[in-house]
Amino acid sequence: MPTLGLKFRFPRNARVDDLLDACGAMVREAVGWAIENRKTATHTIVQELYAVFRRRFPELHSAWAQKSARTAAAIVHAWGRRRRRGREARERPEIRKTWVYVDKQTFRWDWDGTYLTVRIAVRPWDEDPIVLRFRPHGKYKRLVEQWHRGDLDYGEPTLSRDTLIIPLKLPEAAVYASREVWGIDSNERSLDLYSLPQGVGATLDTSYVACVNAEHDKRVRRGCRGKQNPKARAQIQRRHGRRRRARTLEFWHRVALGLVWMALVGEGALVLERLRGLKGRLAQAPKRLRRRLLNHWSIRTFHAILRHKARVYGVPRTEVDPRDTSRTCPVCGEKDLRGRMRLECPSCGLSMNRHLLAAWNIAKRAQIPPGGRGGAGEGRALFGRLQSPRWGQGVMGAPGRPLPVPGANASGTQGEAQVTA
Ligand SMILES: [Zn+2]
Repeated sequence: MPTLGLKFRFPRNARVDDLLDACGAMVREAVGWAIENRKTATHTIVQELYAVFRRRFPELHSAWAQKSARTAAAIVHAWGRRRRRGREARERPEIRKTWVYVDKQTFRWDWDGTYLTVRIAVRPWDEDPIVLRFRPHGKYKRLVEQWHRGDLDYGEPTLSRDTLIIPLKLPEAAVYASREVWGIDSNERSLDLYSLPQGVGATLDTSYVACVNAEHDKRVRRGCRGKQNPKARAQIQRRHGRRRRARTLEFWHRVALGLVWMALVGEGALVLERLRGLKGRLAQAPKRLRRRLLNHWSIRTFHAILRHKARVYGVPRTEVDPRDTSRTCPVCGEKDLRGRMRLECPSCGLSMNRHLLAAWNIAKRAQIPPGGRGGAGEGRALFGRLQSPRWGQGVMGAPGRPLPVPGANASGTQGEAQVTA
């Protein structure tokens, strides 16, 4: 079930700080114990430490001891996962930011159409809970309203010293059986699309992200000019960094929504290249290019957003191995293409833009080989792989559009939202 975290910031206050001091101490102790004893189940940690925690913080609601143990388990799990994948070298998890799960017993909320008021009980039968008041952004109002009506459920909120995150559980949309495939090639300044079986190519200019990044770098340089104090420099960097992230995220969200809309209209599937191992593949690249792509390209963020949206809207999606996609002829399989921006195939004479050629190859890789499973004409044969649970999003549901799509209907009534790619 896809979730969407509603994240609210609030000014630091003493009561939340006190609560998190206590919970932070419990979390740290539980993490230490879990690592030493190689136990990672929440239940085991609770069994071992619950009594200790209760004795040390007798005034707290018992749920906080439980949830501190659960938080510790989550931290250890995440650390273990990173370690198994070789992305973590540290001997034990580092807790940079204190946070804790909030038990639903201690969590009350109320929505008046504008403000979301949250009450968090610190002690048992708390007459004086922590009260936080938020005004959700307009784009989240619809979701909060659905939550309020009881149409959406929510997971366990998490609390830090200045944020509260409430995960709303969105319904899983039924995935339709697709009639076309859109291969998407991710480049530094564009997304290039190619559809099969139609054979239509399109390019989306995404150089906006590069512009935002360049502008950001310039501002940081200008802001830091003449400043020697590293703290002041870090502060400038942080401030601009937050803005840069917000702007690029907003942009990627819009692009992803546009692509999802496009897929829904044509009942298409989206095929991305698998980006795992990007770091390794860039190892040979020049240092400046490498740094730019790894720090600022944010393409993996885009892929994550697209994955999430595809899931929410029930668009079939898969990822394929990108190896050689930009130097293989999609028509005859020749691997020795000529040219730079425009590639030419010496065997069959194909000549096309290299990004579109890569997108074509990506779309092609999502197909099953001719004569494979399905086999009832090209259109039907396309999606064997997409329909297998390993590749897509579980078993495909009945064909049909899961959600009303704004603007999908050409004769739609006035006032409907229009999405443009
Ligand atoms: Zn060829």
